[in-house]
Amino acid sequence: MKYFPLFMDIRARCCLVVGGGDVAARKVALLRRAGAKVLVVAPRLGTQLRALAAEGAIEHRARVFEEHDLDGCRLVIAATGEESVNARVAELAGARELPGNVVDDPARCSFIVPSMVDRSPLQIAVSTGGASPVLARQVRARLESCTPANYGRLAGLLERYRTRVKQAIPDADRRRDFWERVLEGPVAERVLAGQDAAAEHSLEQALRGAGMAGEAPRGEVYLVGAGPGDPDLLTFRALRLMQQADVVVFDRLVSEPILDMVRRDAERIYAGKERTRHSLSQESINELLIRLARENRRVLRLKGGDPFIFGRGGEEIATLMEHGVPFQVVPGITAAAGCASYAGIPLTHRDYSQACIFVTGHLRDGTVALNYGMLAHPNQTVVVYMGLHGVGVICEQLIAHGRAPSTPAALIQQGTTPGQRVYVATLESLPEVVTRNKVKAPTLIIIGEVVQLHERLDWYRPEAAPVEPGARDDPA
Ligand code: SAH
Repeated sequence: MKYFPLFMDIRARCCLVVGGGDVAARKVALLRRAGAKVLVVAPRLGTQLRALAAEGAIEHRARVFEEHDLDGCRLVIAATGEESVNARVAELAGARELPGNVVDDPARCSFIVPSMVDRSPLQIAVSTGGASPVLARQVRARLESCTPANYGRLAGLLERYRTRVKQAIPDADRRRDFWERVLEGPVAERVLAGQDAAAEHSLEQALRGAGMAGEAPRGEVYLVGAGPGDPDLLTFRALRLMQQADVVVFDRLVSEPILDMVRRDAERIYAGKERTRHSLSQESINELLIRLARENRRVLRLKGGDPFIFGRGGEEIATLMEHGVPFQVVPGITAAAGCASYAGIPLTHRDYSQACIFVTGHLRDGTVALNYGMLAHPNQTVVVYMGLHGVGVICEQLIAHGRAPSTPAALIQQGTTPGQRVYVATLESLPEVVTRNKVKAPTLIIIGEVVQLHERLDWYRPEAAPVEPGARDDPA
């Protein structure tokens, strides 16, 4: 080990930064975050530091560095970009045994500043001992992505309860068990979802139950949008919940690579959803979710795209609410956003489209009785979900209500996946293109002038050979 890792308390202590440019400004910002009083010595300041000095947030001595600047300082950072000045600062700091750092010059440093993930009070520091700052940054980026944003709040809550828990559970082993359960259960989950009051309530409950046998209930439902297919489009929160759920109830639209990311030992229940043959009725799905949560399990209800866009998420949580089952909803990238991006078709565009409407081509009663008068307006983009079956009627009606037969229209089959196919046609020719190419679900229809941009903006080149789409029908 080349360096000894430590975290230093510099609150209200004077820290010296020599240099006034952008690099110095970054170091000043960091020191201020840790509560230091910062003294900057530099003949001139850049814009950022000038603003700080003007508002009195830092002390500025407008001249070159002099030895007595070190008086009373806790640590020193040299960031002048002039080697001779930096060397002198390091040398004089060294003579006084003061921790000194010269930016980008490890040989002259008596301490180095790690890459950091800051979820205060939780902090993760990464260092390669100066070997490769880029590598350290990459490791940090990975840690960033798997450390939920609200971990700091979680740590804060645990800190506030530390003493009380210690008093309530004097036995150290039992106390560790208690904390482990808190961290794996609904308390932690609620803080991470930003529901602090509910978290505190659960923690109180757990604490009250701690004297008794048995665990606090932890059954809950995560209604999670899995996006349109590409696993890289999952949100951090979706991934985290996928990895902690005990059982997953998923739709046909959820792609195999995404299911692969669910915790290995989670039970999998297929809920189906096909246009003509629902594997499970919506009512049975609602009942299933309640039953599983009541069995004290963490239930992942995984849906294609976004749960609140043609996903019946509203109905599912209404039932959960009625039955008092705790839940949270995680939005996902909806097919319109995913498919449009991956097909190079901006849904709005200053020249072509000032509005965008999402409609379903599959209505509850099996008809496609949409408000065609409204949809036929020019300068707007119409996105049709579940539209394959009704494509003939939809195109015909839009034309009958005044939208030009030459209006560009696109079909995006299996968007954002290696099997993505894009077909561009016009309102008039679209139904025929569907038949001729045997286009299959899932397919999204985009209608409007923006579609003509596809030719110019098409950028996505799936690497794998197109996968033959499932022979099933459109889901409802
Ligand atoms: N909640 C989902 C939509 C469910 S409705 C969402 O927000 O995306 C199902 C319809 O979505 C399909 O019939 C199809 O029109 C569209 N769809 C979903 N994923 C798709 C994909 N990868 N490619 C093309 N269309 C998709």
